[in-house]
Amino acid sequence: MLEENEPAIIASLREDLDKPELESSVFEVAMLKNSVTLALKELKHWMTPEKVKTSIMTFPSSAEILPEPLGVVLIISAWNYPFLLSLDPVVGAIAAGNALVLKPSEIAPAASSLLTKLIGEYLDSSSIRVVEGAVNETSALLDQKWDKIFYTGNGKIARIVMAAAAKHLTPVVLELGGKSPAVVDSGINLQVSVRRIIAGKWGCNNGQACISPDYILTTKDNAPKLVGTLKQELEKFYGKNPLESKDLSRIVNANHFARLSKLLDDDKVSGKIVHGGERDKSKLRISPTILLDVPRDSLIMNEEIFGPLLPILMVDKIEDSFDIINTGTKPLAAYLFSNNKKLKQQFVATVSAGGLLINDTAVHLVVHTLPFGGVQESGTGAYHGKFSFDAFTHKKAVLYRSLMGDAPLRYPPYTKSKLRL
Ligand code: NAD
Repeated sequence: MLEENEPAIIASLREDLDKPELESSVFEVAMLKNSVTLALKELKHWMTPEKVKTSIMTFPSSAEILPEPLGVVLIISAWNYPFLLSLDPVVGAIAAGNALVLKPSEIAPAASSLLTKLIGEYLDSSSIRVVEGAVNETSALLDQKWDKIFYTGNGKIARIVMAAAAKHLTPVVLELGGKSPAVVDSGINLQVSVRRIIAGKWGCNNGQACISPDYILTTKDNAPKLVGTLKQELEKFYGKNPLESKDLSRIVNANHFARLSKLLDDDKVSGKIVHGGERDKSKLRISPTILLDVPRDSLIMNEEIFGPLLPILMVDKIEDSFDIINTGTKPLAAYLFSNNKKLKQQFVATVSAGGLLINDTAVHLVVHTLPFGGVQESGTGAYHGKFSFDAFTHKKAVLYRSLMGDAPLRYPPYTKSKLRL
């Protein structure tokens, strides 16, 4: 399905987001093919019951953990990576032996309709169905009893999903977002660091990605050099007029354009734009924009940005960054650029996020041996690689006993001599 329809997938993403072909091909097709290939290769191992040790209390006995499908699951996905975020959990659900309903996002309508067509053509419709739609259709789906709900999107709707699931005691995986920080230390290769920040921010759907760096923390001394390098590399990548660049996605729709515009028009950040800031409402385009020294009580610092705006906060000592991160809710990802061993250790020991990545952004996502998911308000549960199989599996505990060697100790009468044993 993915191989035969890559051009159609790329075209639908052009329509919904004007997503550059390379981004579509790598993040929405190649990554999915990797997931499928891995599941096909590893499924035998993932399915194999795990023999485990038993207790002296049950001697003689043997035990195993037997993976079994949960049943019928609901997967609700988001618009920013509409193929990856729909089909990656589908791979896990199918591998684990479940039937499923997929509800793609109505905000990427071309992708949603192509997903429906392709899944209908290529997959077994007796066990895999797509339901398209928005709030009404999703609400009707959420009224049903499911064996698991896997939701990707924002935390506000996640609360609706979790409340609906609670009615039936249905377990959930919630893949959410948050304000993922990037801490930039001094004494590093700034050009490589900045390129990697740009790749994770504007190179991921123009910042409309859950693991894009949301804001930067750096020292007052380091900030001018950092801003200078960001400007220089951004111009190399996207030219002097980035609104015309073919290598940047557009903002998905007018609502999100208005939401991002409001963040820029906030009085508290007026005069803080040090790069970009250009907008074209008719084309839904916003250029890569850097804001320096934004107040922490500004709008932009109090919600997930999910777009091409990058505020920079300045601290006296780089270690102060960790306190700032830890005063907020736990993010989906946290990044540190540093060569300092002690600082790296302190970052890993004190910062809590879904995932940590040192000296790069976003690429932890492709390491299938790492679980991908949030913590606290950035999500619950995880997937990718075997974690996807596990997310849709019940691990059934099985203990085998023999009828030989029956010890009288557990049976009444409970005499004092039994107690002494
Ligand atoms: P969205 O608007 O596409 O919504 C997600 C899903 O929720 C859609 O399928 C939509 O139909 C459904 N929905 C909307 N309103 C609903 C309602 N009232 N009741 C029931 N269902 C409803 O996507 P979004 O929320 O704008 O996505 C962006 C958010 O998702 C960001 O916070 C981002 O960080 C997060 N995200 C997380 C991941 C991850 O893997 N952790 C990936 C992508 C996006």
